[in-house]
Amino acid sequence: MNASNSESAYRQIPAVDQLLLRTAIASWVECTSREFVVSEIQTLLDQVRDRIRSAEPGYDIDLRPEYLESVIIENIKNRLRPRLRTVVNASGVILHTNLGRAPLSKQAQDSLSAHSAHYTNLEYDIDAGKRSHRDKLIEPMLQEVLGCEAATVVNNNAAAVFMILNTLGAGKEVIVSRGELVEIGGSFRIPDIMSRSGAILREVGTTNKTRVQDYQDAIGSDTAMLLRVHPSNFRMRGFTERPELGEIAALARSAGLALVEDIGSGCLHDLRPYGIPGEPVVYDSLTAGVDLICFSGDKLLGGPQAGIIAGARKFIDPIRRNPLMRTYRVDKLIYGALEATLDSYRRGRADSEIPIVRMIAMTSGKIKERTRRFLRRLRSRLPEGTRAGLSEGYSVVGGGSCPDCHLATALITIVSDSVSSNTIESRLRLQDPTIVVRQEEDRVLVDLRTVFPDQEIILIEGIMRAVGGSTTLIPGSQPLTPESDQ
Ligand SMILES: *Cc1c(COP(=O)(O)O)cnc(C)c1O
Repeated sequence: MNASNSESAYRQIPAVDQLLLRTAIASWVECTSREFVVSEIQTLLDQVRDRIRSAEPGYDIDLRPEYLESVIIENIKNRLRPRLRTVVNASGVILHTNLGRAPLSKQAQDSLSAHSAHYTNLEYDIDAGKRSHRDKLIEPMLQEVLGCEAATVVNNNAAAVFMILNTLGAGKEVIVSRGELVEIGGSFRIPDIMSRSGAILREVGTTNKTRVQDYQDAIGSDTAMLLRVHPSNFRMRGFTERPELGEIAALARSAGLALVEDIGSGCLHDLRPYGIPGEPVVYDSLTAGVDLICFSGDKLLGGPQAGIIAGARKFIDPIRRNPLMRTYRVDKLIYGALEATLDSYRRGRADSEIPIVRMIAMTSGKIKERTRRFLRRLRSRLPEGTRAGLSEGYSVVGGGSCPDCHLATALITIVSDSVSSNTIESRLRLQDPTIVVRQEEDRVLVDLRTVFPDQEIILIEGIMRAVGGSTTLIPGSQPLTPESDQ
């Protein structure tokens, strides 16, 4: 269409009703609504009119109904594609906060699908036929698995820290070592949470050294508690000192104060055999005499987002009664997924059932074997000029846990003569499903440790598309069609 003759171009624009009769568009009317599809058509036709208005003389604008139909269908598919999407994590970062931390176990998934569709006894005591408290459902499991007297669950660990401070420390002093005034992921800073909770921060010691005596000297009539914070995402080396938990526990006991520990990751499983030292194990803290611990549900525990508070009943009960508890309470689906996750620990099956524990436990030998098999499948399908190799490297735990831990792994390296590693990375990222890889100099690195076996085929197809010569993005391998909506 020659836009220099814009009058005639305007006349060539198909009418909305004409487009609605086209087969592909009509099938979208069937599975969405006429209103929805009409608004998509009108949006596109408005853009077409703008293009005609601003087109250079002699510039052709494609106004064929079949072409406009294909654009409308693409637009509808894009608009209906959910914003929260499945991602293939080929980065080797096991707990990636940007990627939603821990993927859930099969057992937790089953619980989610069972309880999302039906009514549950969330706040109903089945035996007594009366109203009950939602927390009562999970407490026995937490008691059993953590070995604690009492426990409660809130929305995340930040909320757990806040609730503890607000309930037990508001208007009073909370003693913390200067070396533990940490920031975890941008918006969570211990001093900020403390001031919002109403507790008064009493810093003791220095950045690198804090002794029991420092805590002792700071205790006064306004002291509410001693707080220990696990410096999850960094490690101090060299001239440092931090008292043993048992020593602080003895001091707290003799002073009649609560000792609280934010252990961060909530490791229930001893991960030392897999090369992860230094993560506090929940059980050790409780047996060392800590009165209350709190940790995340979706870090090393491998469950849903939650904050777990466990310890002495005399501290848990007032937290549960705090009116703010209502603002941090969790939903039935979280209780179900958390219960199923904890049940894997109870049955001693965490290393086979909990995905992140399984990933951590994977030996480099096993990964190398799997990577070799994957490479054989991949290489036979790669185009000329693209090379895939195997190299040694490390996976990391991530999620602010164990910054020093490097788990030996096998990496697939991908290099292409014609497509830059930046382009390969962005093409992988923009596909559906998104594939997240690592990049190093001019190589793309793929770590299978964090890739689920049933995603390998998606990964192979994704890589093939990403190293292909074409510069336009190929739409997803599983395009959204009216059929797949049924
Ligand atoms: C991760 C972490 C938090 C925050 O936990 P969320 O579950 O992300 O709210 C708080 N304290 C420590 C020590 C942590 O490692």
